[in-house]
Amino acid sequence: MQPTGNLHLGNYLGAIRNWLKLQQHYDCLYCVVDMHAITLPQDPAELRAATRSVAAAYFASGVDPKRSIVFNQSQVPQHAELAWVLNCVGRLGWLDRMTQFKDKAGKNSERHSVGLYVYPVLMAADILLYKGTLVPVGDDQKQHVELARDIAGKFNRDYNAPDFFPLPEPMIQGPATRIMSLRDGTKKMSKSDESDLSRINLTDDAAMIAAKIKKAKTDPDGLPSDIEGLKGRPEAENLLSIFAALSDETLGNVVQRFGGQQFSALKNALADLTVSVLGPINADMRRYLADPAELDRQLKAGCGRARDLAEPVMRDVRHIVGFN
Ligand code: AMP
Repeated sequence: MQPTGNLHLGNYLGAIRNWLKLQQHYDCLYCVVDMHAITLPQDPAELRAATRSVAAAYFASGVDPKRSIVFNQSQVPQHAELAWVLNCVGRLGWLDRMTQFKDKAGKNSERHSVGLYVYPVLMAADILLYKGTLVPVGDDQKQHVELARDIAGKFNRDYNAPDFFPLPEPMIQGPATRIMSLRDGTKKMSKSDESDLSRINLTDDAAMIAAKIKKAKTDPDGLPSDIEGLKGRPEAENLLSIFAALSDETLGNVVQRFGGQQFSALKNALADLTVSVLGPINADMRRYLADPAELDRQLKAGCGRARDLAEPVMRDVRHIVGFN
């Protein structure tokens, strides 16, 4: 996750909440990608603070630094080193197809950094450096994981190193792969949305959460009794999906429960549920952030473990490409 802006409910439901389950069954690395953050301009002091804040959100949500490796990308220089090699493997035509670059750069793409354009190659390095096989991402990142797969395959073929990099797969899980804005059910909930009312931040207190849900956009009809009835009603679908994800239920169940009721009933129940899930995380985050030295110590330990995994892979890569 990038240390830019506030983490929000979309990040929590689309990413972090799944990580908690994964760490029970897999060897996991969870990275705060500060090098990805500078593909757009960042204030250095804010970047430093946001890196701690994302780490605090990971730990407060239940990512366990004993089970999983939690670290920040810039402190493991092998990410940048591998990214360079992979820049020379990936093709311009492949990157030209990346929809996230088009979304982020907009019409003025010529004025954006080269880094923003090659962002997906750095992401491929993040994955392949650990010979990662499964990448838990939201729907929006699927194309980037597919690119990482193409780059891994081409590296293996170009250097006649069959199976050196495993071909990673995106792991898109859960009912909440795409949480939408509270102000517009057709737009993704995003930290870059101008309106703070569009998202629930992990740092929002109970009153703020309730107020934002109360103000969430709706449509004039009552709630449908089956999933079919959600067609063309993005706001209803979004609020019900958030409810389902937070309560670990299927969307079908939740739709049935609120069928025929008014939005106000759903909003009241959703506000209570959201506060009950995010409240303890919020309190824990504050506790972590009150002790930055301890957070730094945890991150440093994670970086050490990540480097121990990364360096042998990088040593092989240097050898394969003909360095030294
Ligand atoms: P980002 O906010 O782009 O740094 O994304 C960090 C992680 O959160 C990625 O795995 C995204 O797929 C996920 N994510 C971000 N926004 C949403 C959203 N609105 N719904 C679901 N997942 C999201």
